Amino acid sequence: MNASTSSCRACGAEEPKFLFQTGSYRLVRCAGCGLVWVSNPPSSEELQGLYNEAYWEDPATEGYSGYARLEREKRMHFASLINILERFRPPDKSVLEIGCAYGYFLDEAKKRGWRVRGLEFSPYAAAFARDRLGLDVSVGGIEQITEAAESVGVVVMWDVIEHLPDPTAAVRTAWRILKPQGLLALSTGDVGSLSARIHGRCWSLMTPPWHLFYFTRRSLRLLMRRSGFSVIWMGGDGVVAADPASPRPRLPPWLSSLLLRPSVTRAFRFLGWGSVVFLCARKSSAA
Ligand SMILES: [Zn+2]
Repeated sequence: MNASTSSCRACGAEEPKFLFQTGSYRLVRCAGCGLVWVSNPPSSEELQGLYNEAYWEDPATEGYSGYARLEREKRMHFASLINILERFRPPDKSVLEIGCAYGYFLDEAKKRGWRVRGLEFSPYAAAFARDRLGLDVSVGGIEQITEAAESVGVVVMWDVIEHLPDPTAAVRTAWRILKPQGLLALSTGDVGSLSARIHGRCWSLMTPPWHLFYFTRRSLRLLMRRSGFSVIWMGGDGVVAADPASPRPRLPPWLSSLLLRPSVTRAFRFLGWGSVVFLCARKSSAA
């Protein structure tokens, strides 16, 4: 294990413990904050090949079984996230989305008067956002971010931080380009959630080499604090214990369907629980 993968990116603790192996990937866990990560990540050349059209649209591969078909659902979900961002009064209505996929979030924000720009690692998805929605989207990783220091009101990363080879660098870059009091908002799987703990390596979000980092709420708070942010809100998707997409569900079907009833997930969401965590943090001090 080399130096870049041996200390925790969230809290800095050394000597993570071996958790389990899935396929050819070794997962380790930080004893300090619970962050889980792939200790033998793929090379950057291998990462390039992971996000082609099949990742977004082919049901036979890992990833999405048809992202374009989710458009209506995604737009409604993103509209509710824009409500949350506006409630926290960012310094202005400008947003950079890191990992903007097909651009549905940016398009919803634009309709509501935001100035929007996107960055997308997948050339296929970036072309979709540019050609079909006419959005300003660049292709590449965080090294392609060209925004000046203190120039953006909000940075968002929806279901993206778990894919990045260096999540800390992404959060630090967000800090640098955000205006004072700017907002960083993100969502990611919660490996400390009940459904992640029940399902272990069969958790539907346990998908190396696509997902390289698996955060707990504690590890997210520590990463934010160490990077110059203060967390102002955390929420959950309301999916508790059940895991509808697990290849090997661990709950009896009757219990799973009970826990996935809309009224039940709504109640858990109200409580802030779920297997996906949402976070909004404000730029506070020097990183
Ligand atoms: Zn840690």
